[in-house]
Amino acid sequence: MRIAFLSSEVVPFAKTGGLADVAGALPKALRKHNADALVILPLYQQVDRNLLSDTVIEVPIDWRGHTRLTRVFQSDAAGAPAYLIDAPQYFSRSAIYGFSDDHERFAFLGRAALSLVRHLDWQPDIVHTNDWPGGFPTIELRARRRFDPFFEKTRSIFSIHNLAYQGRFDPADLWWMGFDDYRDKNDFLLEGTASALKAGLLSADALSTVSRRYAYEIQTPEQGNGLDWLLRQRRDRLLGITNGVDYDLWNPETDPYIAAPFSAADLTGKQECKLDLLRRFGLPEELNRPIIAIISRLVAQKGYDLIKPLARGILDTGCFFIALGAGAKEYEDFLQSWHDAAPHRVGVYKGYAGEPLAHQIEAGADMFLMPSQYEPCGLNQMYSMRYGTVPIVRATGGLDDTVENFDERRGTGNGFKFREYVPGALLEKIREALYFYARPEAWRAIQLNGMMMDNSWPTVAQKYIDLYLRVLGL
Ligand code: ADP
Repeated sequence: MRIAFLSSEVVPFAKTGGLADVAGALPKALRKHNADALVILPLYQQVDRNLLSDTVIEVPIDWRGHTRLTRVFQSDAAGAPAYLIDAPQYFSRSAIYGFSDDHERFAFLGRAALSLVRHLDWQPDIVHTNDWPGGFPTIELRARRRFDPFFEKTRSIFSIHNLAYQGRFDPADLWWMGFDDYRDKNDFLLEGTASALKAGLLSADALSTVSRRYAYEIQTPEQGNGLDWLLRQRRDRLLGITNGVDYDLWNPETDPYIAAPFSAADLTGKQECKLDLLRRFGLPEELNRPIIAIISRLVAQKGYDLIKPLARGILDTGCFFIALGAGAKEYEDFLQSWHDAAPHRVGVYKGYAGEPLAHQIEAGADMFLMPSQYEPCGLNQMYSMRYGTVPIVRATGGLDDTVENFDERRGTGNGFKFREYVPGALLEKIREALYFYARPEAWRAIQLNGMMMDNSWPTVAQKYIDLYLRVLGL
């Protein structure tokens, strides 16, 4: 089975969030199941050129009325063949997203991807696209299938990693992008704009999203972002598959970034990691004081509106707080002022830090906070559990699916979970977690319950393979 996996971000090339982690792990895991998977992404300015091989191919791409020869670079750094589209006018920018022509940039990526597989004469069984940038190639594939024998048997999967990002743009642009066919155009239109997300949701042969709970939530008006009706309409084609964890990269026994290795059998190294983390953030070396950490994009989704009113309440519990995040100025300013008010208790890194610091925080912290408003899957809670760092999460999406509240009597549970989106509920959970932190035996049981969980990709990849087979009618 041949699978072309298209993503706007892929570890280790370019990353802003969890999509990159998934795109870096799933094609590799599919190959271990003997599927022939390759991955296609842009050659951003941010990509480390040392990861690329010397082979460059030139692919003719029809775009805006011309055929343009475009260079495509290759790499094996993601464990599956990766093809990186070199279009500097679109991808040599200061950031990965956030430009007024994003729809044009990613529509070009989709066109390039389909042109590339044709140029390679590599007929895909499945084109697997992700989030709104994937809407363009998905709808294009449906159109091409009608007249192009090369794609006649190809089927599409569209995966939703976050329904809130919709890829909206001016529908007047549809005609020069080549989507002026009546049906195509209609599939893009949403509330007077064009939505690449809607086009993908409507035109894909099957839909998936990254947890079972989120698959249900996005069919409700509260979390449907105006598209719940469509998802209810296509619910028989929508499957929730919880993301896996790449244990090649996230494993405290082999992690090259952390101060000392540790495992479920021997947790002593974790203390060294804690000390290292306190030093990195210039905090006093008080090993008995618990560290609560958070790593996230600084957007409303991640629950900072619950944390803000608790700035004092959280510190009154006696913990350290360490935050790593990039994004909205409002939240960056909050973190800065929190740090300034309590420099011996609050450590802050504002900006995208790359992999090492994220790993060091996971390894050194005692608790990991994810009070998300909504969370399609969430990866950090699963990384935390592997590192013996106990997650405190809100019961939403993938967090609800993967974290179970600790039950002292039965000894079950891998973390702490609150339901209501109010600051008081969060603070109460933090207090509950700290109560057990002070009881080493119970704490160790929670840590071990988390560390023993198997969220590995091979199991998850098999679910995708089953989905592909179903879509192909095999
Ligand atoms: P989302 O995809 O919504 O951003 P996830 O929890 O699924 O959330 O994945 C976030 C990923 O991005 C994790 O691997 C996390 O470590 C990483 N990450 C987020 N913010 C930063 C940052 N500022 N610096 C380094 N890594 C970050």
